[in-house]
Amino acid sequence: MTQKALKPAVFLDRDGTLNEDPGYLSQPSQMKLLPHVGEGLALLRQSGYELIVISNQSGVGRGIFLETELKPIHARMNELLRPYGAEIHHFYYCVHHPDEDCECRKPKPLLIKKAAKDLGIDVSKSIMIGDKITDLEFAHNAGCRAAVLVLTGVGLEAQKNLKPKLSDFVAKDLFEAAKWIQQLPTP
Ligand SMILES: [Mg+2]
Ligand SMILES: [Zn+2]
Repeated sequence: MTQKALKPAVFLDRDGTLNEDPGYLSQPSQMKLLPHVGEGLALLRQSGYELIVISNQSGVGRGIFLETELKPIHARMNELLRPYGAEIHHFYYCVHHPDEDCECRKPKPLLIKKAAKDLGIDVSKSIMIGDKITDLEFAHNAGCRAAVLVLTGVGLEAQKNLKPKLSDFVAKDLFEAAKWIQQLPTP
């Protein structure tokens, strides 16, 4: 019996990478996609990547909003992505306060490992996109093929502290990141 081939994924940070980051986004009405995110995600989907959001949502652990409030926020995000054919089917998030020192907060690699196991993903063929240094460290800790920094959100600030080799590509935004990923040779 042949084993089903593991799929490549693009792991996506949420706030500042896909949507505007107002700080502890807690209402569906605050969900605003950054420019050309729909087109960029559609491009990645067409290139055969699973799209998986992995996000630190410490607003829950800080008592700012409830974990149940994340669902309507993600539903709103998908409502905005639907016209592009770029809906996100899988959301993973850490809800803990940073002081809790949990195992699932980025840059610890647990959530990539969990997603890979749940969904049949080959992490070594997968790529992480985010706007923080911790997103890039997360990709390295998990053993991703590449890590891409976007200069949206806090990306410009992150770029100033970027150590060599931490990022495989620095993209203006998610769309530019998607175009770079699209032209990569098949691993
Ligand atoms: Mg972010
Ligand atoms: Zn956690």
